[in-house]
Amino acid sequence: MRTEMKDGTRVVVSDNGISEELSVSKFSHLLASKDRDFLLSPSGAQVKVCDLEGKVVGLLFGANWYPPCRGFTQMLVGIYEELKRSVPDEFEVVYVSSDEDLDAFSSFYGNMPWLAIPFSDLETKKALTRKYDVEGIPCLIMLQAHDSKEVRDGVELVYRYGVQAFPFSRQRLEQLQKEDSQKRENQTLPNLLANQHRDYVLSHTGFQVPVASLVGKTIGLYFSAEWCVPCAKFTPKLISVYHKIKQELSEKGDEDFEIVLVSSDRDQASFDSYYNTMPWLALPFGDPEIKNLVRHFNVQGIPWLVIIGPDGKTITVHGRSLINLYQENAFPFTNAKVEQLEKQLEEEAKDLPTLVFHEGHRHDLNLVSDGNGGGPFICCVCDEQGSSWAYQCLQCGYEVHPKCVKAVDRDHNNNNVLMDR
Ligand SMILES: [Zn+2]
Ligand SMILES: [Zn+2]
Repeated sequence: MRTEMKDGTRVVVSDNGISEELSVSKFSHLLASKDRDFLLSPSGAQVKVCDLEGKVVGLLFGANWYPPCRGFTQMLVGIYEELKRSVPDEFEVVYVSSDEDLDAFSSFYGNMPWLAIPFSDLETKKALTRKYDVEGIPCLIMLQAHDSKEVRDGVELVYRYGVQAFPFSRQRLEQLQKEDSQKRENQTLPNLLANQHRDYVLSHTGFQVPVASLVGKTIGLYFSAEWCVPCAKFTPKLISVYHKIKQELSEKGDEDFEIVLVSSDRDQASFDSYYNTMPWLALPFGDPEIKNLVRHFNVQGIPWLVIIGPDGKTITVHGRSLINLYQENAFPFTNAKVEQLEKQLEEEAKDLPTLVFHEGHRHDLNLVSDGNGGGPFICCVCDEQGSSWAYQCLQCGYEVHPKCVKAVDRDHNNNNVLMDR
């Protein structure tokens, strides 16, 4: 009797010539080599590749010298440990290293709680890289025991859904995407902000404000943290705009606006001191809904301002730019309002001088717009984003908001302010 390996299937040919196909672990085929049937483990013990039989296996391609790999690995350790507790025998990760030498491998692998292909087995590592077309790291390929199709965007899946993505199959992925779009369709303020343990948000007076009492208002969800430098610049601006909007609305009396801080502060003390500077409401520090909201709105960086309409649906996830561009006039942040503001800007621009000499710059500045040399920019005076109209230096690219220009006489002899808008 002899056996041969063919595509993860052991073909057993018996003495009478009748062959029989026995399914062996596809992982042996992928992860073992001619003279190695084991993987490394953190304890140093060898783990047989066939022990992976029946599990979901993530192949992690990475290297210590690339910072995004270090960041992702750290995150994956958390997910891995959680899954080891909840489904101890169903998930494994195997590290496929692109480290430059054995020392680098050993020190990076020293932080990982999962298995690894030995650093010296270049051939297997190369074959895996080729088989899965790995072009960039970190890369996480999810293999299913009983599905020949792998899921390739494990990195994004883990970032976006965390342990919820388990077992990382295509079916699970489709299900999660369906849930996401359903959640967006059925989005209401209570299902965004409350959960079965908490039906309120915090206020400064120490009172718990019921989420139900916010229904029907325009709500800003402010993703921010004390440690974030751009937040430190944006928060005072948002506070001033908030007060102006509240003031205007209190005179009208029919609409209402509120902001809820969704903090990613690292401890209660920083949350407390940061929230103390703000006049609005907040989700409690470390609340489990915070992670869900970050995922739901695909928050990619802070500060980030999402605006929810009175019907509980999302109006915009670009509240920050709208505040920067239009301040309190941006309220209620709807498309119709933004279109109206854009038109207004066009009208106002007609009265602007086409050329100014600005006190903060040594060259002339030209008025430009989207269709005419302009585009999105960062204002050199206020450091905030701008779009459409700007004053731009054609020599060095210096660009400012029209509202930030302080025009002066070119000769600077007398600092007559010609335009101060
Ligand atoms: Zn500016
Ligand atoms: Zn210049």
